[in-house]
Amino acid sequence: MQSLDTLVSQLSLEEKVALCSGEDFWHTKSIPHVNIPSLMMCDGPHGLRKQPGDAQFLEMNDSEEAICFPTAATTACSFDVQLLKRLGQALGEECQAEKVGLLLGPAINIKRSPLGGRNFEYFSEDPHLTGELATAYILGLQQKGVGACLKHFACNNQESYRMTASSEVDERTLHEIYFPGFEKAIKEAKPWSVISSYNRLNGEYVGESYSLLTNLLRDKWGFDGFIVSDWGAVNDRVSALKAGMDLQMPGHHGMNDDVLLKAVKHNEIDEEVLDQSVKRLLKKVFKSYENNKQIVVSKDQHHQLAKEIAVESAVLLKNQGGLPLKESGNRLAFIGEFAKAPRYQGGGSSHIHPYQIDTALEAVKGITDVSFAQGFLLEDHPLNERLLHQAIELAKSCDVAVIFAGLPESFETEFYDRPHMKLPAVQNKLIQEVAKVQKNTVVVLHNGAPVEMPWVNEVNAILEMYLSGEAVGEATVDLLFGRANPSGKLAETFPLRLEDHPAYLSTKVVDHRVYYNERLFVGYRYYDARKMDVLFPFGHGCSYTTFQYDQLKLSRGQIAEDEPLVVQVNVTNTGNYFGKEVVQLYVENPTGDTIRPVKELRQFKKVALSPKQTQTVTFTLTKRDFSYYHPTLHDWYVETGEYGILLAKSSRDIVLRGTIKVKGKTKLPTGITANTTFNELIKNPKLSQMIMELIETMKEDYQLDIGMIQEMPIRALASFQVVDQEMVNRLVTILNILNK
Ligand code: BGC
Repeated sequence: MQSLDTLVSQLSLEEKVALCSGEDFWHTKSIPHVNIPSLMMCDGPHGLRKQPGDAQFLEMNDSEEAICFPTAATTACSFDVQLLKRLGQALGEECQAEKVGLLLGPAINIKRSPLGGRNFEYFSEDPHLTGELATAYILGLQQKGVGACLKHFACNNQESYRMTASSEVDERTLHEIYFPGFEKAIKEAKPWSVISSYNRLNGEYVGESYSLLTNLLRDKWGFDGFIVSDWGAVNDRVSALKAGMDLQMPGHHGMNDDVLLKAVKHNEIDEEVLDQSVKRLLKKVFKSYENNKQIVVSKDQHHQLAKEIAVESAVLLKNQGGLPLKESGNRLAFIGEFAKAPRYQGGGSSHIHPYQIDTALEAVKGITDVSFAQGFLLEDHPLNERLLHQAIELAKSCDVAVIFAGLPESFETEFYDRPHMKLPAVQNKLIQEVAKVQKNTVVVLHNGAPVEMPWVNEVNAILEMYLSGEAVGEATVDLLFGRANPSGKLAETFPLRLEDHPAYLSTKVVDHRVYYNERLFVGYRYYDARKMDVLFPFGHGCSYTTFQYDQLKLSRGQIAEDEPLVVQVNVTNTGNYFGKEVVQLYVENPTGDTIRPVKELRQFKKVALSPKQTQTVTFTLTKRDFSYYHPTLHDWYVETGEYGILLAKSSRDIVLRGTIKVKGKTKLPTGITANTTFNELIKNPKLSQMIMELIETMKEDYQLDIGMIQEMPIRALASFQVVDQEMVNRLVTILNILNK
């Protein structure tokens, strides 16, 4: 094939401009006389939403039948990168079979608030977990020759005012919380494309930000794909192209072609900039074309995979022995609408037309007899006394009552944030009333994000299925009866109540701005720092077996920042069931000088163990694991000091702790001015001794309190007439010389 340079040189200006927007809602343009094919893209992220050719954007549910895999909120709880890779591969196969070249996913925005309307589509509150899972998903998908489109970059963390709001976020928070998922996925998995989000970031539309799209994504992180606007996001096409946004979607019949044409003709845009965009796009269009394969997918096999993923991701939040259920000898009641009409996906652009929905009520028939009571009507919120009464009577007459509860789809969907964190009142009432008459009450939850659980102490067990895709019923039943052992861990904190969450006071968009005042303290980083009780912590999940951790070994007691640290721990299955454990490694820096979360997840591994089996789990930590982002350096910085290495079963269940001394190598800029305080000077190793002596002298000569002197800037020596202004200036000069 001829080179892209040659090809682009054969295109007219009009053709190049035309390539910068889509043909319709889902295709790029083809240019037959130079053999440029069209690329088809589809939503994503947890299945294929392939719409018929003439479908319009807002026809959300009109799409070809496809496997509805579990949503990202669910799969994140698997903490299993291999599983995410297999999900990516399966999606890649579905795309190939449907001639789709690019899948609009994964979606990896951080869950800043539990109310975010699309939280079910996103992985986690934690950037490390997000980055690991996204990387695995993309690698799997792209292995099949289908491109990933990482979305939505960046800080599109809520639905309200999503097309206009400016997320106001400081640089350090961006780099530590909101960017790392994108950074890791881009560096390690090389997605073909990135969607620039609808919103503004610190006042500027992301799609028009040269510093975000070009300086950061391309120059700093090495992104070599094309950038596509979120659907309908373009505000100013000229600024967007200059910033590096290559493709406008949907095409809107070339509404901006003339605008771009004029801008190039009037030298507002260099033609070379346009050429670069066209080349970036065409590179992937041709790649997709070349990768195109004729394959047939076994929907049944993929349905089985959807079930496996649901099983691996479900989180057993609580179990006082009610689970697993016995397959015989017990009278069982299944109660609740979701047992026969499960909620398994969210609303909006990710909505899949499923292949086959498994319900728990059908699935359980293969195992044992259960009696069923509906309990409540899904979208009918007033209490239905008759249904409630039937459910209570049934629960009384059985040995175990399993209640299938959750959020109706109208409660969580793209375009709307939730106004509260509650289950419908009828369901809370049902659970409470059933629990009064039946001590073996088990609750199965179907929801895309945390809910308050006023009945948490009244029930025996809680199985969180999240939105588990079309095979949810089979998966739930296998878990309930112990045919599979739950091994998911929460990828987000469940707060006790809405008012507890870190962004509670600053989620409201005012004057099209939303201030991320909680800064780094998102999710467990906040609850830990405030020592707050939570309903269920990040990383939490029970099992039918037990695990013991011992023999923690650190390869060294001290390292320099550029040396690796190898951490090993033995994990043993001490119970009677085969099971999987997610070993979590957090790093803390309790004595450091800067503001930092108490601890941060740096690594995790999921291990499978038979009863009595032990496995040594090995982690390697490197510089980034000890660093924080220093806004003065505009880079990662390791502070010299002692760090804690915490091996944990959850963010609130630290099992083993080791310590390591890490020596940082980067010198912070330490320019001394008249406003430098004595406290700061004391911390400077070169000056410390001399300054201490100076303070001692001042204390004696002027009867000043030591604490007062330490808090003083150098200039205060003149204010308190210790020396005159001239001497202050000289002192600053001398200190700077000594500090060199
Ligand atoms: C959503 C994207 C989606 C696109 C196409 C947008 O409104 O934000 O996630 O991929 O529509 O449906």
